[in-house]
Amino acid sequence: MIADLRFGYGSDEDVLAISKLQVEASRRVFLFGPSGCGKSTLLAMIGGVLVPREGSVTILGADLSGMKGAARDRMRADHVGFIFQQFNLVPYLSVVDNVCLPCRYSQRRLQRAKDADGSVEISAARLLSELGIDERLRSRKTTDLSVGQQQRVAAARALIGGPELVIADEPTSSLDADRRREFIDLLLSECDRVGSTVIFVSHDASLASHFDDAIDLQLANAAAGRSRVA
Ligand code: ADP
Ligand code: MG
Repeated sequence: MIADLRFGYGSDEDVLAISKLQVEASRRVFLFGPSGCGKSTLLAMIGGVLVPREGSVTILGADLSGMKGAARDRMRADHVGFIFQQFNLVPYLSVVDNVCLPCRYSQRRLQRAKDADGSVEISAARLLSELGIDERLRSRKTTDLSVGQQQRVAAARALIGGPELVIADEPTSSLDADRRREFIDLLLSECDRVGSTVIFVSHDASLASHFDDAIDLQLANAAAGRSRVA
């Protein structure tokens, strides 16, 4: 998946230098390492948001590093569901409209949602109820919800249209331990249903037991621990 990758911001030293990192299809992978070690940077590269200085990033058999920006955007919209640490929900849209959003940017995910449930709205409602969001909350603005509820909405948005790859960047850091476990279980069972590959990132290595594989980014990253310009 990743080969001989190097990346740094601007003219700074490399943040990442990874000779090989592979994630098998349909696995649930836990990627961990301390704050600042480059986890979010790596995810941005897997999602095609950032491009490596050197080396390649291949997802679903396609080499992102050989693609133009628009083609990487299309790959991401069609095949990757992102759950961000701050959720990045759209405040002026309702819960259900937030969940449907990826299907506005991807004909493929729109079609997959329709095939699965008949319509995008029904698909969104199904995911929300499976993730434990009360029916009455669907038409509310996301700013009316608790953090735990917003996180489930963000998960439903990542899952709609069954993307092959689901990426979660520390989505549980603001939850207590019980809710964290519950959220991970829900997320993984939804991903199992469609056979999505999951890459779940955290600085908290104790969560590794929920996953098939665990990758220590500091071990994989030859640039880790180098002195960097502050
Ligand atoms: P993590 O997600 O593991 O906490 P990040 O990938 O966010 O780590 O950051 C890795 C390193 O890259 C840190 O040293 C951080 O300061 C730096 N960094 C992150 N984003 C930027 C940016 N946009 N510009 C410059 N440096 C950045
Ligand atoms: Mg991060």
